[in-house]
Formats: sequence, C-alpha cells, structure tokens
Amino acid sequence: MPPLFLYAEGMKTIGLIGGMTWHSTGEYYRLINEDVQRRLGGSSSARLVLYSVEFGEIEALQEAGDWERMTFLMTDAARRVEAAGADFIVICANTMHRTAEAITAAVRIPLLHIADATAAEIRGRGLKTVGLLGTRYTMEQDFYRRRLEEKHGLAVLVPDEAERRTIHDVIYHELGHGIIQDESRKAYVGIIDKLRRRGAEGVILGCTEIPLLVKHGDTALPLFDTTALHAKAAVDLALSN
Ligand code: GLU
Repeated sequence: MPPLFLYAEGMKTIGLIGGMTWHSTGEYYRLINEDVQRRLGGSSSARLVLYSVEFGEIEALQEAGDWERMTFLMTDAARRVEAAGADFIVICANTMHRTAEAITAAVRIPLLHIADATAAEIRGRGLKTVGLLGTRYTMEQDFYRRRLEEKHGLAVLVPDEAERRTIHDVIYHELGHGIIQDESRKAYVGIIDKLRRRGAEGVILGCTEIPLLVKHGDTALPLFDTTALHAKAAVDLALSN
C-alpha cells in the first residue's frame, strides 16, 4: 500500500488566463505545481483551469492599439475561466493587466493583480525606487506604473527610448518565440546597470518572459521576477482559508 499523504481538500481552483505567451504560461504551470507539491508534499498538485488565448491575434491588436477588442477578448476569457470553476483569476502577463479593471467588473470572482504581488515583495524588502522593464505598453502607458506609484508608494524609473525599443523587440522577436540569446542578456544587463546608476535599488522584470533570459545573479541589483512572484501569490491564495 502506498502511504497516504494529506491533501488539501479545501484548495481553491486557480484560474489562469494564459498564452501570452505560451512560453511564460508554461513557467506559471510549472512554478505553481512545484510550489504546491513542496508545501503539501506527496503527490499533491495545483487545482487549476487554464484558458489560453491565440497570441498572434493579441499581438496584432496590441500593434493596432485596439484595446477595446482586447478588453472584449480578455473579459470573455475571464468569464470562461469563471464558468469552468475557478475561484480567482490570474492573468499570466503584465501587459494585459491593462484590461484588469474591465475583467474585475465582468466576473464575480477576484483578480490577483501581478503588480500587487510584485509590490508586496519590493516593500517587504524595504525598497522604494525600482526600475521597470517590460513591453513598450507596460513601460510607457500608465496602467502599471500608476498602480505601483499610487497604490504602493513606489518610485518607478523606466529606460530611455532606445533602450525601451531594445527591451520590447527582444520580448516580441525572441523570448516570445522561445529564443534565448546571450547577446540580448548582455543588452538587458547593461540597461539594468544604467537604471542602477540612476538610483534604482531593484528592477522589476515586468514581462513574464524576461525571467527566461535574465536570472538572479546576472546583476548585483535585486531583481523582481513577476512570473515567480505572481505564481507564488496564486499558491498562497489557493491554500489560504
Ligand atoms: N508576457 C508579456 C508580459 O508580461 C508580454 C506579452 C504580452 O504582450 O502579453 O507583459
């Protein structure tokens, strides 16, 4: 007889909206399951549902700036995740949190915001000024920075125009296609170092693919891996009473 392990009868069902891109959604799936197994032991794994979008469509809409259509697609995805039995929603990307408010209004279950999970860790480490790397939309529009600044009292620095282009292009032409290149890592590390010289005490890897390229230890500054922090917050909530 195999030993009987405790299992979490009351574990909540995590509702992932993924595919943005599928490379980082795979990381969410792995990190969440590893964490649940570590915490509960035995054969335990996460209870979750995943709705994965067609990212080719999303990318084209992002380029066209059609946030109305993206909001429709994301609220539709959230309703499907809710109907499938999820207890709360996790958008597996930073950029698409631009639609977070509309999603919250469209479903009855709560949304676990990636910027809140990240800010909690930054504040917990006693830092106040952070650099932000992400897609152009995340670095340049205010939906993400404003939340960090106004809700969490952080000061946020972004790279300059040419650097933002480099960061963005590497995400869309390499990381989102599963291409990891040393040269791009060096470019990112150089940009992080410039943020440090401007006063950043840490840097948010504010795109869920960036941790595939840049790892803790590649730079002396503390890095805030939004994929890992968001996945951990999802497990905390799933296992809470
Ligand atoms: N995964 C990314 C993010 O965290 C970028 C892809 C997207 O545009 O959703 O922002």
